[in-house]
Amino acid sequence: MSWQNGFESIIREQVHLAPLTWFGLGGPARYFITPENTAQLSAVMKRLHESQIPVYVLGSGANLLVRDEGVDGAVIHLSNPSFSQVNIDGRIAKVGAGADMMHLVNTMCKTGLGGIEAVAGIPGTLGGHIRMNAGGAFGDIGSAVASVTMLDGEGHLYTRSRDELVFGYRHSNITGKIVVEAVLELRPENPEQLTQRMKEIWVFKKNSQPMGENSAGCTFKNPDGQSAGKLIDEAGLKGATVGGAMVSRRHANFIVARDGTRSADVLALIAHVQEMVESRFGVKLQTEVVIW
Ligand SMILES: Cc1cc2nc3c(=O)[nH]c(=O)nc-3n(C[C@H](O)[C@H](O)[C@H](O)COP(=O)(O)OP(=O)(O)OC[C@H]3O[C@@H](n4cnc5c(N)ncnc54)[C@H](O)[C@@H]3O)c2cc1C
Repeated sequence: MSWQNGFESIIREQVHLAPLTWFGLGGPARYFITPENTAQLSAVMKRLHESQIPVYVLGSGANLLVRDEGVDGAVIHLSNPSFSQVNIDGRIAKVGAGADMMHLVNTMCKTGLGGIEAVAGIPGTLGGHIRMNAGGAFGDIGSAVASVTMLDGEGHLYTRSRDELVFGYRHSNITGKIVVEAVLELRPENPEQLTQRMKEIWVFKKNSQPMGENSAGCTFKNPDGQSAGKLIDEAGLKGATVGGAMVSRRHANFIVARDGTRSADVLALIAHVQEMVESRFGVKLQTEVVIW
């Protein structure tokens, strides 16, 4: 019996991942799986585990660089609407991991529920935001999270509440393979004021980052007490290129992919920036971008 038995309708093979990422780069996924609901996701995870097929989870690909050769495993995409449900009860919102964060932040602000406006303008799904603890100068998603429900690598569902969760700088202690849902605890606020604040945060981001170009956000994590962007800038690397990949002139911690860029160009530019910054300042930059 093939491991795909019974799941044929949700599995496709050799699906190109480039259009599903913000970089727009990279090769295909050997298997691409779009489960219809959590029960089916759990069942397919169990089957993948038994068949020893590596599993990758794709959100909206906003923090991801897929290699040119693609992914030799199963990429799971929570694109079915059942994974984007939003249920609000007072100040509590139960939200599916596939929910689009730009849309969610907007909805919450207009509803008069504050707490996630700090991530305004940061692309991604709720699952991706929680995994990376997305955020910036105004705060992060972790501070609004009351609990997270996830699946382990064998397809078992479990929930971790706030006192068991640790959210740090672009990091969480979530050990589950796939986040399927989270409960957000928000605070009632005036919708107009909240929407105004959201717009200001969004405008700040738009003015400081190359939002209109193909990228995956910040390439490197900020080293302790330092700004990766400042180090790259001071190393004279703004505008540096390898093939079509270029260190953004607007924000040195962004690598942008121009027409004709290959993932290999981005990887080579990442290595070049790491080398130059290390030789100049003795600091080894660690990537924030996830590389598949
Ligand atoms: C223009 C631009 C600006 C950005 N600005 C910021 C910023 O200011 N601050 C910031 O923090 N980030 C920023 N980013 C990066 C990105 O928006 C965040 O990292 C976001 O959280 C990625 O979410 P995603 O759904 O796209 O995840 P993906 O890129 O699809 O995946 C990222 C990682 O999360 C994992 N993941 C995704 N979904 C799930 C899930 N359901 N369960 C478990 N793991 C999952 C993936 O396996 C992968 O390891 C920016 C990106 C861009 C393109």
